[in-house]
Amino acid sequence: MNSKIYLSSPHMGGTERDFVQQAFDTNWIAPLGPNVTGFESDLEQYLGSDRHVAALSSGTAALHLALIMLGVRAGDEVICQSMTFSASANPIVYQGATPVFVDSEPDTWNMCPDQLEAAIRDRIKKGKKPKAIIAVHLYGMPYKVDEITAVATMYNIPVIEDSAEALGSKYKGRSCGTFGDLSILSFNGNKIITTSGGGALVTHTIEEKHKAVFLATQARDDAPHYQHSEIGYNYRLSNICAGIGRGQMQVLDAHIKLRRQMNEFYTNLFAETDGIDVFSEPGSDYYSNHWLTCISVNSSKTGYSAEEIRLSLEKDNIESRPLWKPMHLQPVFKNSPFYGKKIAEELFLHGLCLPSGSNLKDVDKQRIMSVLSQFL
Ligand SMILES: *Cc1c(COP(=O)(O)O)cnc(C)c1O
Repeated sequence: MNSKIYLSSPHMGGTERDFVQQAFDTNWIAPLGPNVTGFESDLEQYLGSDRHVAALSSGTAALHLALIMLGVRAGDEVICQSMTFSASANPIVYQGATPVFVDSEPDTWNMCPDQLEAAIRDRIKKGKKPKAIIAVHLYGMPYKVDEITAVATMYNIPVIEDSAEALGSKYKGRSCGTFGDLSILSFNGNKIITTSGGGALVTHTIEEKHKAVFLATQARDDAPHYQHSEIGYNYRLSNICAGIGRGQMQVLDAHIKLRRQMNEFYTNLFAETDGIDVFSEPGSDYYSNHWLTCISVNSSKTGYSAEEIRLSLEKDNIESRPLWKPMHLQPVFKNSPFYGKKIAEELFLHGLCLPSGSNLKDVDKQRIMSVLSQFL
């Protein structure tokens, strides 16, 4: 059997071990320390726009804290992009609030600004103004930032920008992760960089960062004993994991270049194939890190389906995966309202994510190419 080719697997640059070793040498084996501070300032520099970063144990934890900081509570409603990973929506439920899902638009596959506005108007008409909007840059592709921000501003609703898949992506030259009132990043094992598990909350002010760190470290009041006036969480990133992150930051741009080369590889491969579209930037305002390269397959033109491609790849021990199944089609969210048509649903039915790692070798590409060639 050939060795497995993954969709996206961790890709170490080499210096991660040195940062981790330093943590051991200095006995900073804790959810604080020089690597945590260093990783945060690396991220702040990388993102620009004077943002502040609180390093946390996961992107999910960052979303949860973002909702808490925006005052989302039981009985509230929060708007969320339907086509996304469940982690975007789950923290809404942790707060006892209800997600209201919004469809995608076909250009970026992300939240449709028109459906967003329709949802807001209808929820207000029904008696509840949504407390926040969670918009996602799916697969690294920036959402329609200007349009989404304009709607949010018009109705004065804060945006939580889920940039878990989009570190290094840009919209009009500015980094994803700087557009929301609060933004989140993820460093899970399959993301563009990894700390083996981790995330971050990105804030506009230092006070917001301090608030996030306070909540993430059990909400201890300023007293010599343990005193608490608020409910806290154990959501801080460890100094060991942050060391991996510091090493990963040194290779982030190089790895984005390689991910973008993978996208080019597929674009060239399918260039002549009528009925297969490689998901790509809809215009020069958009710069994707191409975390994952996805295709959509029009089987009435091709004569085969995305699922048939997936099964052929699987036979050769190559991982590929359907697109995120929209949240409004998930059994667990069957009672949540949904605004839109069938854009996300159609994408789910016809889409496929292909192996996109920055660590794929020429022999891997050869294997992928030889399986896909049967379909060309
Ligand atoms: C990975 C991911 C998250 C969650 O991040 P974790 O660090 O795995 O908790 C949230 N949203 C999206 C879109 C993601 O892809």
